[in-house]
Amino acid sequence: MFNKRVKIKELLQWEPQQQEVTVMGWVRTFRNNQFVALNDGSTNSNVQVLLELGKFDEAELKRITTSASIKVTGIVIPSLGKGQKLEVKATTLEILGDSDAEKYPLQPKKHSLEFLREIAHLRFRTSTFGSVFRVRHSLAFAIHKFFNEKGFVYMHTPIVTASDAEGAGEMFKVTTLPFDETPRNEDGTVNFKEDFFGRATNLTVSGQLEGELGATAFGEIYTFGPTFRAENSNTARHLAEFWMIEPEMAFCDLEDNMNLAEEFIKYLIKYAMENNREDLEFLSQRLAEEEKQLPQDKRSEMGLIEKLEFVLNNDFQRLTYTEAIDILRESNHNKKKKFQYPITGWGMDLQSEHERYLVEKHFKKPVILNNYPKDIKAFYMRQNDDGKTVAAMDILAPGIGEIVGGSQREERLDKLEQRMKEMHIPTEEMWWYLDTRRFGTVPHAGFGLGFERMVLFVTGMTNIRDVIAFPRTPKSAEF
Ligand code: ATP
Ligand code: MN
Repeated sequence: MFNKRVKIKELLQWEPQQQEVTVMGWVRTFRNNQFVALNDGSTNSNVQVLLELGKFDEAELKRITTSASIKVTGIVIPSLGKGQKLEVKATTLEILGDSDAEKYPLQPKKHSLEFLREIAHLRFRTSTFGSVFRVRHSLAFAIHKFFNEKGFVYMHTPIVTASDAEGAGEMFKVTTLPFDETPRNEDGTVNFKEDFFGRATNLTVSGQLEGELGATAFGEIYTFGPTFRAENSNTARHLAEFWMIEPEMAFCDLEDNMNLAEEFIKYLIKYAMENNREDLEFLSQRLAEEEKQLPQDKRSEMGLIEKLEFVLNNDFQRLTYTEAIDILRESNHNKKKKFQYPITGWGMDLQSEHERYLVEKHFKKPVILNNYPKDIKAFYMRQNDDGKTVAAMDILAPGIGEIVGGSQREERLDKLEQRMKEMHIPTEEMWWYLDTRRFGTVPHAGFGLGFERMVLFVTGMTNIRDVIAFPRTPKSAEF
């Protein structure tokens, strides 16, 4: 029977009154053959377990090593130690699982994040990753809460798809065909008719197109699931497998879309601030310490919590792509040729250095860029009357860059078909998508929020590999 266990998070809220309690967890430290700092993952804090001298078998005590798992039943008493109001005076001790101190790779000292990535199967047991993944959990929960409160329907879009949402490459193929003796057509191309699905299939890069089908029936839907991109970009912001939240709303234009996205991001931040205070305070300290290593001008102007509060209390800066290009072109940064990619003029795609300049140097707050040139955006975005731009929007966050990408969708069949032809998107294969425009089309819009980028923003971590349990990146799929 394990269900008498009290979680340490709950226990730490108790008033010490000699109650009997059973706790279980993993040993963080063991001092003076008497004091165990025990952690069970429910909170960043440990509970102190007191093993009175002489009361326990020496051989048993030797087995209390870092990360050994133990079960303790004892009495809750006031603690004499600093910073803790209670501790557990053990009456019985049981070692559930030994941990060979010589071999256990985590020592009670500071390890680099790079090292911890190599032991991702154990890194949850550190304070930093404990906090990061509890915050990640909270944000995931808050996402469902937010949309549920608004009456959105949670839709599960397929992981295996035959459509290429963006018309871009970068997809993982899904196949059961053999690599040698691959069945071929007469012209030498692979004969996918022989494949499992009888056609070429991929892992999804986005659930949006299917999401639009849902939105044009339920009114408002959202997806929250894994997406896959075989992009060979080894950056601190890209994963090959990441989670995306994609709301899609009927009867919605670009402005409604921007409003919802801003409200959503603020809701998530607020939820974490209210429910993960302890973890955020720990992460805030961690970040401050990490930044001490940096030269003054590379440090953030605000602490983590201060930054989150600032974002909550201020409107995001909205401006058009055209306005952004003007600001960038006129910036001293550009004039002094400090951008790796100089501002060549209207129509160019913005690089992350440009986005970060706008957010971090110019506005110093989140920015919603909108109405981009149509030639740098996807086929489904609604064409504006100027004939040059589309009703797209990206949200750029300090320290991260793009966190949301979205648009109002082209709901006019003729305009959509014309754009697809221009961009060489096969209209026949997309018959099901175009049907939404044939039968009761409506203005609609949506966006995609990269979940890991949101977790980065809230936790103050700087590498996306540190906010997903087991990162998949080019040449790396351990665990
Ligand atoms: P980027 O320019 O940063 O590569 P994108 O324009 O390819 O982003 P979208 O296709 O608009 O991004 O995807 C929507 C959101 O998904 C992005 O705003 C971002 O938050 C997230 N995202 C996109 N690609 C990745 C990735 N490889 N790893 C993690 N998150 C990603
Ligand atoms: Mn990309």
